[in-house]
Amino acid sequence: MSATIIDGAGLARDIRGQLVERIRVLTARSRRPGLAVILVGEDPASAVYVRNKVKDCEEVGIQSTLIRMSTDTTEIELLARIDALNADPAVHGILVQLPLPAQIDTRRVIESISPEKDVDGFHVASAGALMTGQPGFLPCTPYGVMRLLEQVGCNLKGAEAVVIGRSNIVGKPQALLLLQKDATVTICHSRTRQLADHLRRADIIVAAVGQPKMVTGDMIKPGAVVIDVGMNRDSEGRLCGDVDYDSAAPVAGWITPVPGGVGPMTRAMLLVNTVEAAERTP
Ligand code: NDP
Repeated sequence: MSATIIDGAGLARDIRGQLVERIRVLTARSRRPGLAVILVGEDPASAVYVRNKVKDCEEVGIQSTLIRMSTDTTEIELLARIDALNADPAVHGILVQLPLPAQIDTRRVIESISPEKDVDGFHVASAGALMTGQPGFLPCTPYGVMRLLEQVGCNLKGAEAVVIGRSNIVGKPQALLLLQKDATVTICHSRTRQLADHLRRADIIVAAVGQPKMVTGDMIKPGAVVIDVGMNRDSEGRLCGDVDYDSAAPVAGWITPVPGGVGPMTRAMLLVNTVEAAERTP
């Protein structure tokens, strides 16, 4: 038996399609959703991500503004740009592409974004809202993973879920979202002993590590749902996840491919957050 592939690209397409009508309604009320994306420096991977975000916006009808700033931009200059965007009523979402150059304090920059425009969900107010179960913006990747689990009809109540990774943008919010849905959640990280023992108990595995193909089929409980957040290059330079797809797929019940799984969902959820930001504007 082989796992059913979870089609993240297809679900992301459906989500974008559903947004089009909401955007049309907002635009008719002179509130076309607007997303400002700031790119500081010349990092090639960041440039690709930003280009894709702008393209996604265009496709659904969100007004996007790309602001490119040079590598030697000072923190004060960046904060001034963000202040201006915070005050701009045509901008509903602000995204600062990470990583930022070393002279800039990333935390200070994130906290300078108005929480009402924090469509990446990285602001401490958004994190606090998630922690306490209040409404706020969810970080796009864990939000997308929850939509994928919903899509496959995964029953989370009482399920054993293991999240590998404890970053602020993926692992920790992912664990909180699973907990909100009544899963029993274990968070593993680089200091976890006997990772495989934890994984073999899991009904759901979310791998967000950044280590190519580290989760192998022998670590997976037969029938488990395996969500692979990782985006890595293998030894031949090909894009791959944190899960060794070839050995995992024959054991798992459901599995996300890389590419075509979590990645497109992350992009789609940014659009969802931007539309929600526009809808919430008084
Ligand atoms: P981080 O580097 O911030 O976090 C990685 C986490 O993995 C850390 O908590 C680390 O533990 C843990 N870890 C590292 N090595 C091991 C190990 N051998 N065993 C168990 N845990 C380990 O990464 P991110 O959370 O930002 O991203 C994770 C992956 O997801 C990356 O591949 C990234 O490219 C990808 N990603 C994909 C997205 C998408 O849209 N598909 C979006 C965002 C990220 P410790 O805390 O102890 O150091």
